[in-house]
Parts: sequence; C-alpha cells; structure tokens
Amino acid sequence: MGRYIGPVCRLCRREGQKLFLKGEKCYTDKCPYSKRPTLPGQRGKFGQPARTKLKDYGIRLREKQKLRTIYGVMERQFRKYFEMARRMPGLTGENLLQILERRLDNIVYRLGFAPSRRAARQLVRHGHFLVNGKKVDIPSYLLKPGDVVQVREKSRQLDIIHQMLKKRGRVKELPWLQVDKAHLEGRLLAIPSRDEIPVDVNESLVVEFYSR
Ligand code: SF4
Repeated sequence: MGRYIGPVCRLCRREGQKLFLKGEKCYTDKCPYSKRPTLPGQRGKFGQPARTKLKDYGIRLREKQKLRTIYGVMERQFRKYFEMARRMPGLTGENLLQILERRLDNIVYRLGFAPSRRAARQLVRHGHFLVNGKKVDIPSYLLKPGDVVQVREKSRQLDIIHQMLKKRGRVKELPWLQVDKAHLEGRLLAIPSRDEIPVDVNESLVVEFYSR
C-alpha cells in the first residue's frame, strides 16, 4: 500500500489548519504553519498563491482530503473504509471515524507510544508491537474492543517509546483506551462515539463528497 512521502508540513498549509502530523515539532514555534499559514506553492508575479473561496464541491473535497491526511490513508484504502462505513448500521460519518480510529497505527499513537501516526506506522511496520500476544506489522490492522497492544519484549529498550512515555502529559487521555505504562501495553476498551474522537473534521461533508 502506497503512502505520501512528500513534505508533510505542506499538507497543513494546504488544508489551512494544523493537522499535527509531525509530533513534537507541531507543539513548538518551529511549526511552519504557525510561521507561515499561507498556501504552499511558488510565489508568482503577484506574490503568494491566494486561498480562493471554495464552492460546495471544493469544500467537501478539502474536508475529505484533510481526514485522509490526518490518518495517513491513501485514496483507495480510504474509499474502502467509506464503503465499509456505509454498509454498517448507524451514521456513515461516525462509522468512518470509528474505523480509522481502530487502525493499529492510530491506536499506537493514541496510546502515546509514538509521537505521530507516521512514526507509529513505521514502528508497526518494523514489527515492534504485538496484538493479543502475536506480532502484527500491518499498520492498517483493525482492532476490536478487548484487544491488547503490547510493545514486543525485544523492542522495550527503544528510545522513541520511552521518550514518548515521559511526555505522556501531552497525550490526551481517552476513556476508550487503557494504558499500562509499566508493562508498555494498552487495551482498546470500546469503540469510541463521535464525541470521544478528538479530530477536528466535519465528517458529514466527507459523506456528502462520496454520495454526490
Ligand atoms: Fe503541521 Fe506539525 Fe508541520 Fe506544524 S509542524 S505544519 S502542525 S505537521
């Protein structure tokens, strides 16, 4: 499965909001979006490219791209998640967010074992985590309530994980996740409801984008 490998801060500038894709840097004054919240692209004869007023289609498209960017999912997979969400009972937008939240890379990030979803994805790919005692190196693996994610015995000395645990103050405690810092593990307690998912996106616009 492919992934975006270009400069990520550009994506925040594109969406016109901080998407917190880089971990620690996002919270410092080194954040390029805080310094220059303009659209990315070359300055032309008339200066920086201007943010034009979006019409209906553009607004929905941007919201969909923003959600995809936050979770680091490529279009094909994102579309599959949307189809899954549509077939599930309940609100499609909420279902979609719940699916995205259940991804292993997202859970590793939410548990505070990695500074960003991108970093979490890499740690998962390198086989540093177990799910219910078995090695899983697929970032898109979807967890179920009750599943336990653990740092592998061999990987317990990894600096990045210990540094992150020291900074856990920054990590938002979520009622649907249980973290055991001493044993470097966490459990998905339940599927979160929309108001328990801290992500600044209007998911109904995303649903409207695919339903057009
Ligand atoms: Fe976005 Fe973080 Fe880069 Fe700032 S530092 S532009 S929030 S990814």
